[in-house]
Amino acid sequence: MTTSAPESPTAHLGLQQSLQGAIDRCAAVGLRMSHQRRLVLELLWKEQEHLSARDVFERINTRERRSIGQTSVYQNLETLQKFGIIECLERSGGRLYSYRADAHSHLICSATGRIQDLNVQLPGDLLAEIEARTGYRITSFTMQLMGEPLRDPPKPANP
Ligand SMILES: [Zn+2]
Repeated sequence: MTTSAPESPTAHLGLQQSLQGAIDRCAAVGLRMSHQRRLVLELLWKEQEHLSARDVFERINTRERRSIGQTSVYQNLETLQKFGIIECLERSGGRLYSYRADAHSHLICSATGRIQDLNVQLPGDLLAEIEARTGYRITSFTMQLMGEPLRDPPKPANP
């Protein structure tokens, strides 16, 4: 099993995962690109974290110094995830949203709860064995890995 380093979350991503790619996919499914919707998308692509609707609302209004209503943030996040434009994770504390919509895996820090995206490839012979055992062709997979920091817990991103 190989994993790529989490330091460069976009390095491997092509146009499919670029902000422009997301805007194009919105157009393809008939979603109007309102000013508010673009603010939400831009924030998710800029932060590249798994954020609650409240986080998105607060960061747009404080860090970005743009004005957007809470209801608009909630509605846009829900619409974007419903159409598969963004990722939505169901967590015990509520939903988290992120910019990636492709199948990928997660590493969750047991100390801080921080979620990192991981690009994990399973060896072909393991996939073949699973297919032979189950009678299904595996088309995608995601893994959730829990871990504790080997050294000090990582500091929160963008302090
Ligand atoms: Zn993710």
